[in-house]
Parts: sequence; structure tokens; C-alpha cells
Amino acid sequence: MSDCLFCRMIAGEIPADVVLQTDRVFAFRDINPQAPTHVLVIPKEHHATVGALAADDAGLLGEVVAGAHAVALQEGLVTDGGAEPGYRLVTNTGPQAGQSVHHVHFHVLGGRRMEWPPG
Ligand code: 5GP
Ligand code: ZN
Repeated sequence: MSDCLFCRMIAGEIPADVVLQTDRVFAFRDINPQAPTHVLVIPKEHHATVGALAADDAGLLGEVVAGAHAVALQEGLVTDGGAEPGYRLVTNTGPQAGQSVHHVHFHVLGGRRMEWPPG
């Protein structure tokens, strides 16, 4: 989608600080980090929300989640099989949750203690 910010980043039209990519998944640092590690993980194919992606291509959703875990491993937030220090994986759907970019994305957040429940 030519008017989608994240599609334009995947196409190389807008710069991205890329941390990982596969043939179908793209991960880059958030421009406004909310934690020492804040990476966005997205499918290269445009889907607006996690629900749309689950309905259209559940396998791709699995690849995006696996990509998020690979980012967490790469960033030292977890070790293989271990859970320390850990990370948070968030996806927002709709205005009340704060979705501002309508290309599904998972936030990988880590490097600090995070409150629960979130605000
Ligand atoms: P949402 O609010 O939709 O869950 O998350 C959108 C995220 O995209 C926000 O955390 C915001 O900081 C990030 N973002 C918005 N514009 C850009 C950009 O141009 N580059 C990068 N790297 N991140 C962006
Ligand atoms: Zn898009």
C-alpha cells in the first residue's frame, strides 16, 4: 500500500533501523522508544490488524511472533529456553488501544521493569 508508512519503510522509501528480517517479516527500532529495547515486528505484506492477519494468514502471524522472539533473543532479553530478564509483546487494535499505524505491528519491549496492568 503506497500510502502506508510501514509499507514504505519495507520498500526502502523511508529509512528504518532494521534489526532483523526474513522473506516475510521485518523488524526495526521504534522512532519513539518506550523502553531500552523497543522494536516493531511486522509482516512485509500489508494487513491492518492482528485479527485481519489471523484470518487471512495464520501461518504468517506465527512467523511474525517467531520473529519477535528472535528479536528478543538477539537483543539479549531472553536466552534460548530461559525467561530472564524477559520482554513484553504488545499489539494494539483500534483507537481505544492506541493503534496509530494501520499495518499490524508487534512491539517488543524490554530492558526495564514494566508495570502490570498497563496504563
Ligand atoms: P501504535 O501506536 O500503532 O501501537 O504504534 C505505532 C508505533 O510506530 C509507535 O510506537 C511510533 O513511535 C512508531 N512510529 C511511528 N512513526 C514511525 C516512524 O516513522 N519510524 C519508526 N521507526 N517508528 C515509527
Ligand atoms: Zn502497510
